[in-house]
Amino acid sequence: MSAGHRLDPADWDTFEAELHRIASACVDRLRAARDLPWRAPPDDMADRVAIRGEGAGTGALFDRILTDIVPYATGNTHPRFFGWVHGTGTATGVAAEMVAATMNANAGGRDQGAAHVERAVIDWLHGVAGWDGGSGLMTTGTSQATILALGCARMRAFPDVRETGIAGLPEIRVYIAEGGHSCVKKALEIMGHGARAVTRIPAPGGRMDVGALRAAIARDRAEGRHPLAVVGTVGSVNLGTFDDIAALADLAEAEGLWLHCDAAFGFWTRLAEAPWRDLSTGIERAHSIATDFHKWMAVPYAAGAVLIRDAALHRATYRERPEYLAAGGAGLAGGDWWATDYGIELSRGFAALKVWATVEGLGQAALGAQITDNCRQAARMGELAEASEYLDLAAPVVSNLCVIHPRAGDADDLAAALQLSGQAVFSTTRVAGRSCLRAAIVNHRTTDADVALAVRALEAEVAGAVRRGAAAK
Ligand SMILES: *Cc1c(COP(=O)(O)O)cnc(C)c1O
Repeated sequence: MSAGHRLDPADWDTFEAELHRIASACVDRLRAARDLPWRAPPDDMADRVAIRGEGAGTGALFDRILTDIVPYATGNTHPRFFGWVHGTGTATGVAAEMVAATMNANAGGRDQGAAHVERAVIDWLHGVAGWDGGSGLMTTGTSQATILALGCARMRAFPDVRETGIAGLPEIRVYIAEGGHSCVKKALEIMGHGARAVTRIPAPGGRMDVGALRAAIARDRAEGRHPLAVVGTVGSVNLGTFDDIAALADLAEAEGLWLHCDAAFGFWTRLAEAPWRDLSTGIERAHSIATDFHKWMAVPYAAGAVLIRDAALHRATYRERPEYLAAGGAGLAGGDWWATDYGIELSRGFAALKVWATVEGLGQAALGAQITDNCRQAARMGELAEASEYLDLAAPVVSNLCVIHPRAGDADDLAAALQLSGQAVFSTTRVAGRSCLRAAIVNHRTTDADVALAVRALEAEVAGAVRRGAAAK
């Protein structure tokens, strides 16, 4: 029966029936996303999921997954989830994940379809960026993409760095706006340069001050440091603001610096209507771009990408082919594009399929329309906050982020109350020294009514805080 196939199902028909059952449960869950906000994991969650290692068999296993694990997701599939920058996922992505697991492609290299699909995704990204060609790679997200991009920047400046390491290099500097993402600092720490390699440039109104950047570069040069790269923020995580990328491109060109753009979610405003689609103008001149599919493109986690304009440099930075990875001509070891030549990983999954399926299945127009919707909704949320007697808009809404200062109560307490009641998920942040609730709308399930409902729920919480404050006096 199953001799020689000990890890395959003993009976395929039973497995198929069970798979249909769990697939139905997944579809039910997607269909009911509106009724399924975040639920805190139960106190005994760790015990429930502790590995027993007994080989429960498919039926019992699927029951356990559906009962003990599935209900306790982050809730970012819910239409009023606005916290941090969490993508929502799609049904198309779910199907693609199952197919990718079935193929079980190791997309690190060799002559296989997955490589062509990944390259098709990268080519499409080049088009969205306004590049005519270039290189790139799927990554687990923008954090990894940032390391790969800055690695190329370093390689351009110090072509021997792979051999020599960084000990003999001058102190490098990478410039990023105040409010730019911490993944840049982390990348430089991992690359061995330390956090001091990051210079934060003031960004009044959410845009890097180009004069201050020019002065910082001059100062560093005068003092013997090596200005390496400037990171343009294309959608800041805190406020959804955009640097003037064209101005940064001019400066980078004049100073011989690498221009990298952190476009984790903001990249996708390029698919939206005006005025949002023009926020990132200048990105077409960048040397590298990092972006995510798992945020605003609603592709299931994890999926991001790096784009590198100079393909030869990209390859020179990461290619490593010992004898057991030598390329062969006609066989499976052939193919002229191996992902492992362009990044950190050797073995890697077929994340490109869920991206490809999202774009091909849902269409670029629908994806763009949902970006436009979210930007409009953030603007609407801002208007509602401004009109409210309980709330203030903490900063102008530029794209899909709205940051609200409550006139009473503590922002963390208010956010927690709304999360626990399942009404809406805001995260919190500080703007100009004041703690605020923050909505980053990257949610294709959000309707205008959800926006109004979330603001009303917040107002009710603030009103409660006002009453409690009055009672305490
Ligand atoms: C989320 C985010 C990152 C980090 O991306 P990951 O995909 O989480 O690694 C970097 N920059 C910005 C602006 C982000 O929003």
